[in-house]
This record gives sequence, C-alpha cells and structure tokens, in this order.
Amino acid sequence: MTAPFWVAGKPVSGAETVVIRSPYDGAEAGLHAVPSTADIERAVAAADAVRHEAAALPAHVRAGALDHVSRVLAERAEEFAALITAESGKPLKWARAEAGRAASTFRWAAEEARRFSGELQRLDTDPGATGRIALVRRVPRGPVLGITPFNFPLNLVAHKVAPALAVGAPIVLKPAPATPLTALALGEVLSETDLPEGMWSVLPVGNDQSAALVADPRLPVVSFTGSVPVGWGIRDAAPRKHVTLELGGNAAVIVCPDWTDLGYAADRIATFAMYQAGQSCVSVQRVYAHRDVAEPLTERVIEKVRALGTGDPRSAGTDVGPLINTAAAERVESWVSGAVEAGARCPVGGRRDGATVAPTVLTDVPEDARVMADEVFGPVVAINTVDSVEEAFRHVNASRFGLQAGVFTRDLPTAFAASAQLEVGGVVIGDVPSFRADQMPYGGVKDSGVGREGPAAAMADLTEERITVLTGV
Ligand code: NAD
Repeated sequence: MTAPFWVAGKPVSGAETVVIRSPYDGAEAGLHAVPSTADIERAVAAADAVRHEAAALPAHVRAGALDHVSRVLAERAEEFAALITAESGKPLKWARAEAGRAASTFRWAAEEARRFSGELQRLDTDPGATGRIALVRRVPRGPVLGITPFNFPLNLVAHKVAPALAVGAPIVLKPAPATPLTALALGEVLSETDLPEGMWSVLPVGNDQSAALVADPRLPVVSFTGSVPVGWGIRDAAPRKHVTLELGGNAAVIVCPDWTDLGYAADRIATFAMYQAGQSCVSVQRVYAHRDVAEPLTERVIEKVRALGTGDPRSAGTDVGPLINTAAAERVESWVSGAVEAGARCPVGGRRDGATVAPTVLTDVPEDARVMADEVFGPVVAINTVDSVEEAFRHVNASRFGLQAGVFTRDLPTAFAASAQLEVGGVVIGDVPSFRADQMPYGGVKDSGVGREGPAAAMADLTEERITVLTGV
C-alpha cells in the first residue's frame, strides 16, 4: 500500500510515488506518495489560516489530542518499531526503545500543555508604576516548520510535533527523505484527534522544496534537527525567523582516576559508541581515559566491542546494523584509514561490508584526525590517554562542537568542575554523553546548535511573551 502524505490533517494520494528501501539489504520498506507544489502550498496556507484559532484552543483539547497520540503509540509500538527498522536499518531493539520514547515525549507534552501558563509580575517597585501589574502571557510565535533527520524517524519527529501542538502552534513537518514512512504513519494517529484542520501537515519532500519552505514567510519559526552545514545554512537563509538548531557533535567521555567500576564504564562506552551504528548526535566518539585507568579500560572496551552482534537489524540479537547508505559507510571507512595512516592503532574493526561498518576501536589517535575533530556518525570510538582530568577538559573544550559530555567520576569537586567548565549543552556524571531523558532540556553550544528541545524547553522556545499592563490594581 502506498502511504499518503498529509495536508491540513487529511491524507492525500499524489500522482507520483517513491519506494523506500532498507539500507541493510535493499528490501522494500514501503512506498509513499509525493506532494506537488500545489499540495505544499495548500499545507502552508492552511497553517497560516488556522494560526489564530490554534492559539486560542483550550488546553484540554491540546492535551487530550497529545494524550491520544501517546496512548496509540504505546499500543502500536511494535508496529512503529518494525517500520523504523525497515526504513532506517536501526536494530529492532533500539527501534523498540525509540517507539517507547516517542510515546513518552507526547505524554510529557500533554502534561506540560496542562500547566503551561504565564506569570503575574508586580510593577510597583518604582513609584511611577504604583497601582500597576503585568500579566505576562506566552503566545505562539506562529506556524512552525519542523525539519527532521533520518536517525530517529519517530522520536525526533515527536520532539517537533508535540511541543508545537501543546502551545497551539500549527506545524508543517518535513521528515528526512530516507525515512519518511514512520512520520507518515504518525500522521494516521494524528488524524484520529479532533485538532482543527490546518494544525498539522506531513510533507515528504526533498531538500529543494524544504529550502523553499524555509524561505516562506508564513512559517516564521523553523525548528531544525540535522547536520551542521545544513542547519547553519538555514539560519543564514532566514535571518528574520526564529530558528532552533539541533545539530551534530563529537561527544566525549572522560574516565577519571577515581572511577573503580571499569567494567561498567567500558560496557556503557562500547554500547553507546556503537548503538544505531554510531548514528546518534550524542554517540560516544572520543574517550579521554586517565593514565591510571586507561589500559584496563581499553582492554574491557575492546572485549565488549568484540562481543557485539552485527548483521540483520530485524533480528532481535543484532546490536549494530548498517549505516544509512553505502556512501556513509565508505566515508567512515576512509576516516578510519586516515587515522591509522596518521599513527592511530586499530585493535578491532576497521572493515566495511556494503553499508555495514564493523564496530571499530582506535587508540592513540592524533587530535586533528577527522575521527576526533569531525562528527564520525559511524560505529567508531577513539580512546586516548590523558595525564590529568584538566587535560581531558581542555580536549573536550577544544572541539568546535558542544552537545553533551560524560564524566565517570564519584568525586564531587570534579563533577562540579565538569558541570561548570565543560562547554556543552549537557554534562552527564557517572555515565556516557548519550544519556537523554526526553523531558530534559537538550541541545548544544558552538557549532552544535542553538536553542533547546524537550517538551517544556521547546514550548518556551516556540512562544514569546506578551505583556498586558493592568492599571488601578
Ligand atoms: P541532514 O542535515 O542531511 O538532513 C536533515 C533534514 O534537512 C532532512 O529532512 C533534509 O531533507 C533537510 N534538508 C537538507 N538540506 C536542506 C536545505 N538546504 N534546506 C532545508 N532542509 C534541508 O541531516 P541527516 O543526515 O538527516 O541527519 C544527521 C545529522 O543530524 C547528524 O549531523 C546528527 O548529529 C544530527 N542530529 C542532531 C540531533 C540533535 O538533537 N542535536 C539529533 C539527531 C541528529
């Protein structure tokens, strides 16, 4: 069956169709209809037309719709997980985790929608304002263009759609061309709600039409998750819009000399360097291990990495599946060879078979190798030895990225120093940087982006303050 796209909450079967295939073996994941220029225009015009009605929707209507989506996602989690695996090649166990997280993202947005208010601010602190008080309301900035990447086809879509609906902002969602089927299936669930026509559309269009949507003044807010060059290009192309960018990184872990449970640290490092074949923006990419623990830690990471099962993402036992396409795998392979030519050692991995890259550990890697300095987005982890925690902090901060960092320590002053000094959006103490609870504020600094997601943070971001001054109170 050809999946329809969604214009103003209604399914549309276009004249053209596209086949989506698994990056693992080319198996057909499904077909979808392609929107025409006229369909795109109808979606944007509808979002623009409904914006006042949307902003005035009662909280119980917004929250009720979000609760419905959360419930159905939980009920149909297996189906959604299978679709994520089919189109993205993500191992089933991680696809199941993603489906569960998406249900939780919608549930959090429903809860936040119920309590999202403004504040009452006293103004009579100055004699000239005696008898006045301000009502500070948060109103939607306007219809949102949500643009999402391929690596979390459901939960990152949820992080765009749920907060927009929670504040009463219409949203036009543009999913990634490689993985649009999951977003289109979410459209089916959204269509079961009683949100007004025009509140949401899902348009599986290409990069050029996406750029045209960025330029459309009727979508004054752009919430983008994806790669660094595309993200900052969007910001440059739309200087007058409110643009949020959730971009890439080269997340680091520091293993401090006081950390005794090296088995645990190695297990977390190996798992979260390789999960989703390293295609997560907070995948463990760089490890800075203190000299006191570096050798036993590295041995354990190698052992764990060797034990990971690669192969068919549809089998429950697979830990590491393919990258999104063969070109991505070839790039990762060449970066690994580049690091080895520059002097790194490669005790495990380094091989490629089609779109699958064997989980790879590198040690003694020059800091300027691409596997350190750029975003690998593949199943590769680099472990370097440092002589002090301060040296590790310097390496983390020398990066042009700053999404999250993990610090294995039980030492309170070290934990606070990390929290104060690391130039990232989030510091995870006692674990890898890949930890994310969907309700927490999440995002990066430097090249990694601007703005924060997580339902509450995104809802603040999608709205602005409007003041009403009351006199004679
Ligand atoms: P990408 O930048 O290639 O594409 C992302 C989206 O942008 C797609 O929907 C694509 O069609 C669209 N797009 C491409 N060119 C465009 C243009 N000129 N104008 C408008 N839209 C355009 O990214 P990707 O390869 O799909 O995703 C991987 C990247 O996403 C990685 O860098 C990863 O780190 C990042 N990411 C970041 C986060 C985060 O929360 N910070 C989360 C997941 C992924």
